[in-house]
Amino acid sequence: MGTLTGKTAVVTGSTSGIGLAYARTFAGAGANIVINGMGVPADIEKERSAIETDFKVKAVYSPADMTKPAEIADMIGLGEKTFGSVDILVNNAGIQFVSPIEEFPPEKWEAIISINLSSAFYGIRAAVPGMKKRGWGRIINTASAHSLVASPFKSAYVSAKHGIAGLTKTVALELATFKVTCNCISPGYVWTPLVEHQIPETMKARNMTKEQVIRDVLLAAQPTKEFVTSEQVAALALFLCSDDAAQITGTNLSIDGGWTAE
Ligand code: NAD
Repeated sequence: MGTLTGKTAVVTGSTSGIGLAYARTFAGAGANIVINGMGVPADIEKERSAIETDFKVKAVYSPADMTKPAEIADMIGLGEKTFGSVDILVNNAGIQFVSPIEEFPPEKWEAIISINLSSAFYGIRAAVPGMKKRGWGRIINTASAHSLVASPFKSAYVSAKHGIAGLTKTVALELATFKVTCNCISPGYVWTPLVEHQIPETMKARNMTKEQVIRDVLLAAQPTKEFVTSEQVAALALFLCSDDAAQITGTNLSIDGGWTAE
C-alpha cells in the first residue's frame, strides 16, 4: 500500500519534463493516473504503459488541449468515470516564449495565458465539485520563480505565473473548510524541453551565445549554480498530498536554488 493507494491524480502536461515526473512519482505512491499533454502518440503510449508496468497502477491518457475548456472538463470526467474520483489535480501544462514586448506576437500572448493560467481555472472548476463532495482534495499548480520575480522578454509567462499564484490563494480560501488544499510550487530552472526551446529565443533577445545564456541567464539566476530536477519538484508535490501537509494551503513553495531569496 502506497500513501496514495485508492486515489486518482490528473496531471496536465505530463507527457514530458516536470509533469512526467509528477505522474511517475504519484504512481510510485500508488495513485491511478490520468496523463495529458501533446506529443507523438506512440511515445505517449510508451510512457502510459511504463507507468502501469513500473508501479502496478492504472493510467489513462486524456488528449485534452489546455486551450479548450470543454476538453479540460472532459479530462476531469475521464478520471471520474474511469477511477471513480479525481482526488489530486496538478495544473502543470505550460509553454514559454521569449521576445521584446514590442515584437511579442499577440497569438503567443493568448496561448501562454490560456495554457499556463486559464487551463488551471477550468480544471479546478471541473474537479472541485467531486473533491468537495468527498471531503478531500489536493490541487497543485506549477507556477515558477517567475510568479515572484520578473525577467525581461517574458511578459506573457511572468504575467501568467503571477496570475496562477493569485488563483491559488483564492481557491485555497474558498475550499479551506472542505479539506481541499490548493498550493503552487515555484521551481527555478529545470532542464526540460521548455527550457531548451527558449534558448534560441533568449540568444536573439539578449544577443548572447548558447553558452552565455546557460551560464549568465539560467544558472546565474540560481545561487546554487545548479539546475533543479523534475524529481525534486515532484517529491515536493508528493509531500503536499500527504496528511502531514493538510494545513498547508494557499502557499507558493519555492524550489529554486535560492533564486528568489536574493
Ligand atoms: P515541458 O515542455 O517538458 O512540458 C510541458 C507540458 O505541457 C508537455 O507535456 C506539453 O505537451 C504540455 N502542453 C503544452 N501545451 C499544451 C496544450 N495546449 N494542451 C495540453 N498540454 C500541453 O516543460 P516543463 O519545464 O516540464 O514545464 C512544466 C511546467 O513547469 C510548466 O507550467 C512550466 O511553466 C513550469 N516550469 C518550468 C520550469 C523549467 O525551468 N523547466 C521552471 C518553472 C516552472
